[in-house]
Amino acid sequence: MKSTYASVHFNQIGTPVADNFDDVYFSNDSGMEETQYVFLAGNNLHERWQNWRQPTFVIAETGFGTGLNLLVVMTAFREFRKANPDHPLTRLYFITTEKFPLSQQDMAHALSRFTALTEAANTLQAQYPFGLNGCHRLLFDNFATTVDLWLSDVHDAMSDWQVPEHGLVDAWFLDGFAPSKNPQMWTDELFINMARCSRQHATCATFTAAGLVKRGLQAAGFTVSKRKGFGRKREMITAVFTSPKTNGNSPTKTRPTSVTIIGGGIAAASLAYSLSQKGISTALYCAHEPADGASGNPQGGLYPQLHAQPSIASQLQAHAFLFARRFYQHVSDLAEFKHDFCGVLQLGFNESVRQRQQRLLENGIWPQQLIRPVDELEAEHIAGIPLPYSGLHIPLGGWINPPSLIDSLLNLAQNTGHLTVHRHHRLVHLKEHEGQTQLGFDNGHAIEAQCVVLATGHELADFEQCADLPLRAVRGQVEAVATQAPLNQLKTVLCHKGYLTPAFKNRHALGSTYVKRDTATDVRLAESQQNLALHQQALKNTKWINTLCHDGSARAAIRLGVPDHQPLCGPLPEVNKYHQWYQSLRKYSDDVPETVAQRNIYVLSALGSRGLTTAPLLAESLACQLCHQPSPLGRTLAKAVNPNRFLLKELKQK
Ligand code: SAM
Repeated sequence: MKSTYASVHFNQIGTPVADNFDDVYFSNDSGMEETQYVFLAGNNLHERWQNWRQPTFVIAETGFGTGLNLLVVMTAFREFRKANPDHPLTRLYFITTEKFPLSQQDMAHALSRFTALTEAANTLQAQYPFGLNGCHRLLFDNFATTVDLWLSDVHDAMSDWQVPEHGLVDAWFLDGFAPSKNPQMWTDELFINMARCSRQHATCATFTAAGLVKRGLQAAGFTVSKRKGFGRKREMITAVFTSPKTNGNSPTKTRPTSVTIIGGGIAAASLAYSLSQKGISTALYCAHEPADGASGNPQGGLYPQLHAQPSIASQLQAHAFLFARRFYQHVSDLAEFKHDFCGVLQLGFNESVRQRQQRLLENGIWPQQLIRPVDELEAEHIAGIPLPYSGLHIPLGGWINPPSLIDSLLNLAQNTGHLTVHRHHRLVHLKEHEGQTQLGFDNGHAIEAQCVVLATGHELADFEQCADLPLRAVRGQVEAVATQAPLNQLKTVLCHKGYLTPAFKNRHALGSTYVKRDTATDVRLAESQQNLALHQQALKNTKWINTLCHDGSARAAIRLGVPDHQPLCGPLPEVNKYHQWYQSLRKYSDDVPETVAQRNIYVLSALGSRGLTTAPLLAESLACQLCHQPSPLGRTLAKAVNPNRFLLKELKQK
């Protein structure tokens, strides 16, 4: 999971050189002009953007390196948008791969000479992720650009890309060191994957004119041309994907003109925000007021749940957490919401937990910037209160007040003019009829919707369309403990079996109970006692825990989970369609075609008690899925959250 950083030096004229490949990252003559000539002109981008009629254009690159190509193309795209403010093309997607990322310092050094790109370089460096394998989605709204930086080998990354029916990529930047210096990258597998990901008439440009690249592209279905190379290079290759694609001639899927979201929690608000940013007209209906369910707690912890192994669950947690952290930072720059990114301490409060934490560190899969060991002294220093435990520190974590976050997200979305919020509309009737979905609310209001997303938390169980999902409602009570010495000095979120937060409005959140199959939200004395006992047991080496005074103030809410503890994000499966398809197939396959899997009712739910961590990334991925845009989730993670996984498991066992 941890990436291997590039080892580089800078030659006499300051160009970065990769030690392991003995090759330059860009031309000694002029890196910027090389990018303009080889990749932008080689793909005829300026003219294609002018004539483009879709809202997005997708570039894929092999070998991100210093990010120079990205900076040049996103700057050009911003100029295009400025010159053509009413043009239908509004967003650039740039998907790129990097096996050996540069350190932040080397990147800054490499880019420092391109003064014309300073603003773009600062934007990149502010969000440049540390070395954790997988997809990092970076939103550069000032450049109308979305970047998916896959820190992985190009072959692994590309095989994991989710490719819609009509393909994904409109233009390729085939970079990477010279084929003679990096033969592992320039393989048939690369060209075959390019064909899988290309849209009809996708173009490709590369600095090299090597025969193996020409032959590889041709064999994969590209028509190849040669033109003069940049600077001292004699020739370079450009290509067009001309091989017919399956479904290539069927009409391109258009995005929905409107989306209806049911729910008012963090899932619903994050989705409303993502859709509004994409210019989709969105209506959100909530039963009472926003944030009155599980997202109504005064404080929620923000941190990933990581395992000692790079399980799919912990990959999702790590990437969702890092995206959420960037996302919340961005939102806090635009609107106020109550939060403190004060870090999270996971306490080694007994021997078996300390051993588990030790295994997590020994396996060395997680970068230190994400999670690192602290001894008792440091833990106490970070916490600001007496705390005789070693543990793990998640420096980027913290707590958030979900109601003010939700309020900000909905306000920002409403300010785009694309979101309307309908309070006091409880959905009581949901029916599909001839491609439309009919919705009826408890106040008598009825609508027809093109596309519906159920983000209702545990109330998902109320709809017959969800009857086949193994939903599990779990009640949780969280205490609101009045601040008191020494807790008033607490500076970080403490986690053990429960959690305890720094003071917010003079109260600390201390939680939580887990009561299965109970959907009542009354505050119970027995659960307050249970919460206190949990803390007294886990924190028994401190003196203060036994003298903690609690006046019984608490809040109970219901979370939704499923047996594998992963979220639900994607279309609701139509059981009959799946059965019919499997019968015609007569064998198991988990690559379900869109025609079978697609439906007009989607789910974004079962976030359990981790909604603050997972909602932003899942919402962004669902918004992309609805709009047929590149997803920040690879195939592996998308399958892990797809609501069809329970049905597929059942079909596999048949
Ligand atoms: N496009 C870059 C820029 O704008 O700075 C320059 C790219 S540099 C010539 C080639 C990059 O490809 C290096 O960063 C290298 O680490 C990366 N690379 C090489 N082999 C790779 C592989 N198998 N998978 C992903 N990246 C690879």
